[in-house]
Amino acid sequence: MKVAVIGTGYVGLVTGSCFAELGFQVTCVDKDAAKINQIEAGRIPIYEPDLDSLVQANAAAGRLDFTTSLHEAVASADIVFIAVGTPSRKSDGHADLAYVYGAAEEIAQAIDGYTVVVTKSTVPVGTGQCVEAIIRNRRLDAEFDIVSNPEFLREGSAISDFMQPDRIVIGARSDKAFVLMRRLYAPLENAGARVVTTSVETAELTKYAANSFLATKISFINEIADLCEAVGANVEELAEGVGLDARIGRQFLNAGPGYGGSCFPKDCQALIQTARDAANPLRIIEAVVEVNERRKWQMAQRIIAASGNSIQNKKIALLGLTFKPNTDDVRDSPSLTIAPALVAAGAYVSVYDPEGMKAAALLMPELHYAANAYEAVEKAHAVVLLTEWEEFLTLDLPRLRSLMHGRVFVDLRNAFEEARMQEIGFAYSSIGRSGLLPAAEIQVAA
Ligand code: NAD
Repeated sequence: MKVAVIGTGYVGLVTGSCFAELGFQVTCVDKDAAKINQIEAGRIPIYEPDLDSLVQANAAAGRLDFTTSLHEAVASADIVFIAVGTPSRKSDGHADLAYVYGAAEEIAQAIDGYTVVVTKSTVPVGTGQCVEAIIRNRRLDAEFDIVSNPEFLREGSAISDFMQPDRIVIGARSDKAFVLMRRLYAPLENAGARVVTTSVETAELTKYAANSFLATKISFINEIADLCEAVGANVEELAEGVGLDARIGRQFLNAGPGYGGSCFPKDCQALIQTARDAANPLRIIEAVVEVNERRKWQMAQRIIAASGNSIQNKKIALLGLTFKPNTDDVRDSPSLTIAPALVAAGAYVSVYDPEGMKAAALLMPELHYAANAYEAVEKAHAVVLLTEWEEFLTLDLPRLRSLMHGRVFVDLRNAFEEARMQEIGFAYSSIGRSGLLPAAEIQVAA
């Protein structure tokens, strides 16, 4: 069975190389010739652990190739995945489907023989139907079925997420399409992956519901963390107490600077728009987005407050720019709000991130990009941990402290022990862990 994957980004490249690893013949297509040239030369354009070796091994085995010619790849494929971007449309927050529809137009011209056309991109409910109409309008003779097969991988652990998925969701209209898709995923299903078969529309909506639910968990725990600070409780112990309930689960209950990344922000926005269009507004998700937007600004205010209420002409060092560790993706990262807010408040902002600096520098040229964490913190008044990269967790903290001018350390990921940080001499603050009741109230309580 031959597979074509259109769009060789985070999802397309992982999908293509994983299907090749499972033994299928895969061609990955991208219209970005520089990207294809780079991959063919053995350089992977994104940072994703172990992806380079997976691509190289499968290319060397002759199961994986790359091209800019969508036509050739689609004409010879039995299954075509659309894995192009679906960013937020700036004007209204709807998913911008221009790339998906553009790919559908090109697929229509190339289809040769029965083909399953799968949207792996995250697309609003009804998109599959539009893709079908685009192909049908162009090619009355085309033999094809459309399928929705949303992707749930996480950047940073994309390969293991793809190879050991919690579930595989397949939405289709014909038995023939279901059979082909089940055959494609058989190695994973045989290894224990659960497959949910449903309609195209349900599959499309499932992806948005899943991401919005996870975003809800994050905004929920962030608000609870604020309450913990206000009443003298500890959000981490609370998260254990809550998350050990199997009905709730511990994951995504880590208080922090707000969610970001290429999926949650745009997917929540798109779901809100879909719901409004259907005259069925989702008030919970609307609140989740509002809480998250406000949170990023609050984090900048928190840093300013911890630095003595003014950061005018002070050096602030940010450790981490990506929205989470083990990716180079800075799309919608909280750093994109926090760093410019600190600059606007008069600070000299120096930053370091193991993988995200190239992308960040294009968006925030006003920051000072250091060669490593120690260089970033040199003579800084305050240090802020924004992303919990492993290399930050293993820093020589006394050395870090000795390089600084000031001693403020704002830990937005609760990565360090409060007592130890104080012992080293930091004026340390974290999220939802160090709240104390005002003295007067303690006396009343006593
Ligand atoms: P990306 O921006 O990294 O990659 C998209 C690629 O598609 C680009 O390289 C672009 O050049 C290419 N492209 C666009 N139109 C094309 C065309 N007509 N022909 C050939 N190539 C074309 O995007 P991504 O992060 O991989 O996301 C892709 C989709 O998967 C989105 O809908 C996203 O929401 C969804 N998704 C992403 C993740 C993630 O963690 N990044 C996880 C699950 C789902």
